[in-house]
Amino acid sequence: MYAIPFLDLPPLRSAGGTVTLPGSKSISNRVLLLAALSAGETTVHDLLDSDDTRVMLTGLAQLGCGIEHLGAHTVQVRGLGGALPVRSAALFLGNAGTAMRPLTAALALLATQLGGQFELSGIARMHERPIGDLVDALRQLGCPVDYLGQDGYPPLRVGHGQPAALALDTPIRVRGDVSSQFLTALLLALPLVATRDITLEVVGELISKPYIDITLKLLAQFGVQVQRDGWQRFTIPQGSRYTSPGSIHIEGDASSASYFIALGALAPASAGTDGITIQGVGLDSIQGDIRFVEAAQAMGADISGSANALHIRRGAWPLQAIDLDCNHIPDAAMTLAVMALYAQGTTTLRNIASWRVKETDRIAAMACELRKLGATVEEGHDFIRVTPPTTDGWRAASIHTYDDHRVAMCFSLAAFNPARVPLRIEDPKCVAKTFPDYFEALFGVVQANAADIPVLCIDGPTASGKGTLAHRVAEQLGYAVLDSGALYRLVGLAAERAGITTDAASLQDPAVATRLGELAAGLPVRFAAGRIWLADEDVTTAVRSEAAGMAASRVSVLPEVRQALLQLQHSFRRLPGLVADGRDMGTVIFPDAPLKIFLTASAEKRAQRRYEQLISQGGTATLIDLLADLQARDARDTSRQHAPLQAAQDALQLDNSDLGIEASVQQVLAHWQAQRPFAGA
Ligand code: C5P
Repeated sequence: MYAIPFLDLPPLRSAGGTVTLPGSKSISNRVLLLAALSAGETTVHDLLDSDDTRVMLTGLAQLGCGIEHLGAHTVQVRGLGGALPVRSAALFLGNAGTAMRPLTAALALLATQLGGQFELSGIARMHERPIGDLVDALRQLGCPVDYLGQDGYPPLRVGHGQPAALALDTPIRVRGDVSSQFLTALLLALPLVATRDITLEVVGELISKPYIDITLKLLAQFGVQVQRDGWQRFTIPQGSRYTSPGSIHIEGDASSASYFIALGALAPASAGTDGITIQGVGLDSIQGDIRFVEAAQAMGADISGSANALHIRRGAWPLQAIDLDCNHIPDAAMTLAVMALYAQGTTTLRNIASWRVKETDRIAAMACELRKLGATVEEGHDFIRVTPPTTDGWRAASIHTYDDHRVAMCFSLAAFNPARVPLRIEDPKCVAKTFPDYFEALFGVVQANAADIPVLCIDGPTASGKGTLAHRVAEQLGYAVLDSGALYRLVGLAAERAGITTDAASLQDPAVATRLGELAAGLPVRFAAGRIWLADEDVTTAVRSEAAGMAASRVSVLPEVRQALLQLQHSFRRLPGLVADGRDMGTVIFPDAPLKIFLTASAEKRAQRRYEQLISQGGTATLIDLLADLQARDARDTSRQHAPLQAAQDALQLDNSDLGIEASVQQVLAHWQAQRPFAGA
């Protein structure tokens, strides 16, 4: 997950490969609640691990459910079986509507029937999302529910501590035209108290019917058969009881699939691939958003599928504009609004009033951000109309994401724009709500031209602090790091392991130079989880030794070695970007890098820092020896014939003799921001 202030996406070129989707949020949270309300144990497989499921799991544990994590995506839930072992608790449910609504209903009924009192709250946005229609329905049932903030919105208190009678004999009326989650919440909760037939009547036109369908299908899997009369009346039969299926698998998230379906539809297939394959959700999905497939096909996507997988290729191109009632795919429809940027003509998405009460006001948010990219957008109470920019009309935009995962994910697709302008996604970690590794999954299947992938070079002499600076800057930008010095150190180490002497005299021998070149070309190096491996040996510590540094400085003089490491170094230029540190990053390896820093500090300061570092690691050294070694390396690095240490002409000089690391990081980031096209964003 990219827990950084913004993530810059360079222009993307093509896409291809296989994506495995995380579990569906809607199914995950419903199943967790059903498992919690059933008696006995339920093992939930392929559960989504996200903000919304985490608050649900925490809430259920507070209520006395046994929650045992059997793996990253497998949880065993020991259910309450209709009992209420904890009679009073305060639950914090973040911004998870799929936890707030059903828990409110279930706890209101249980607290009223058995005696109890619970408070439910969330983040500020949760307290702006309406819940009045559900509260009205619960009050009809005789449940005490109090608003603790503003009327009609969370936070809420349910139950008064004492048992009270429930009014189950008259049909319960619930509005269905604001959010279908109110009806879902009641459908999930009422089987707990089905001492007689209970009827629910929907007032107004029910929106998002497919989500009700998911609810009914899952209720059936937990042993409750709801009778349905159109979409107007639902009856929970007397004697309904939750029965755990023992074990249940969660489908991949069909709404999350929409980003990769769109990707396959709008990106040319990468060389050697046949477009995008999505695993985990397919044509047999019980999720309504699977019908996004039809909408994408209408825009031109070429899609085939099986029960549990989808395969997407670019079909008609440019995409075709559509005019579509999106009531059946409210979440996935946001992706259509971004696909509209690649369509010929104007796309209209209708019947999407529910967008206004989601994680943010999504109609306003989409309109504002699409306009930033250059699109012409008209918004109404319940529709959005998008006309794409002309090729010249695209703008490099910094996309505000409103703490809304779907805004972040769907706008990432704008990186395929024909104008090849880069894109910034603000607060990219908001995808954690449903798809924590979304950007990693995206980068796994998209390609960019190497020249478009930004590289930030940090060159400078030994012990100038390049490595620390490079890591800190990379951390802030979400970029990878190339520690090129480590590669030369590895060659030195590999030479030693192979019994090749690397003293000055030996290196004069052309046969030795050739052998070292071959060694460097076939270096069996692996970088994994912060460790460096040479074949099967963890050499993370060994490469950092003074001896390895000196050996590196000797072998790096050889053009054979430098040439052999070229391709390996270039291969680090991967999405979304790279921070490269060394001696010749800006001059030889990445001469086209958009920002080059030449980091210096006085020899005395550098020797002092190296000394402190070695001593703190328990080593022994004298300052005077270190200064001498360092000056010898400086001399060799700057005087060698090939790729000598020198600042690139377009490099910015940064002397950090008297600067702390934090100040250096801030200076480099400020230079980076200044030369990005989003300045002032
Ligand atoms: O940066 P570090 O101290 O790890 O580098 C070890 C040695 O590798 C340097 O002294 C230098 O001789 C060599 N080197 C190089 N070119 C680079 C990085 C390091 O020649 N890009």
